[in-house]
Amino acid sequence: MLNQILEGIEIVLFDCDGVIYHGDAPLPGVRDILCDLRSRGVMYRFITNSANRSREEMHAKFVTMGLGDVVDEIDCFPSGMAAAEFLRTACTGLIKDVYVAGAKGLRCELERAGFRCHGGDSDNGKSMDDREFMRLIADDQIMDAVVVGYDTGFNYYKLARSCLAMQKNKKCVLVATNADPKDRIGDFSIPGNGAMLEAVCASIRSLPSDLRKDPTVTGKPNRLFGDLAIRGTGVAADKVLIIGDSIHTDIALGKNCGFRTCLVMAGVTSAHDLQVTPSHMHPDHVVRDLRDLLER
Ligand SMILES: [Mg+2]
Repeated sequence: MLNQILEGIEIVLFDCDGVIYHGDAPLPGVRDILCDLRSRGVMYRFITNSANRSREEMHAKFVTMGLGDVVDEIDCFPSGMAAAEFLRTACTGLIKDVYVAGAKGLRCELERAGFRCHGGDSDNGKSMDDREFMRLIADDQIMDAVVVGYDTGFNYYKLARSCLAMQKNKKCVLVATNADPKDRIGDFSIPGNGAMLEAVCASIRSLPSDLRKDPTVTGKPNRLFGDLAIRGTGVAADKVLIIGDSIHTDIALGKNCGFRTCLVMAGVTSAHDLQVTPSHMHPDHVVRDLRDLLER
């Protein structure tokens, strides 16, 4: 089956959660497929909507899972990179100060791109009251952008500072690394960045109309992220295969970029979800997990 799926493919983009690993555990077949691709001379990269890790931290996770010999740091693309790319290119020269409603890894990627970052993990555990809010009204920087990314340290303080940033600068840009509502842990769902983004959006919904705005989602399925992940390879879009477990992000990114697509049923998509998906969104291939690719 792999021979057929890989026909004409020069680079494979792997989604991570639900394809490569669940939580901290690698999924079956990962090492075998990466070794197989390497032996064929097919490039591969990893593209995740999670923004809590920087590219170094993402690579360190692969190392911890025993995959350090088959994964290079240069091939790791956390969605913080897409947010930085958007602020750098779409808002050329306009963005300097950024409030990070996210984790350390997101702040790290934004700082690497040259932005002056505020918040992030340095606002973890802080509490907000009227007095602190008054202090921020007087003292806090004018932010040019707020970036919301998956963050287990997300709290009311970050929510209130994001809302304040929008009020102090009506040109403040609202960016979300992704809008995934959930991830799967075992048989249960854990809230994704979409839930945190929803909180930020709700906090600005009742503001005067010139302060309200919709977020720009820069991770998958925004084609900016797909273009970024294959940049410098010289590979044409129709020679790229994306393998992911989400129709709304991974397969949609493939469709937006003109990549070939393979859906893995080991993650967030159920058989029923696939059944009710409109035909134009159907993936080119469907497999149970990565072992399926090797076995058939
Ligand atoms: Mg996934």
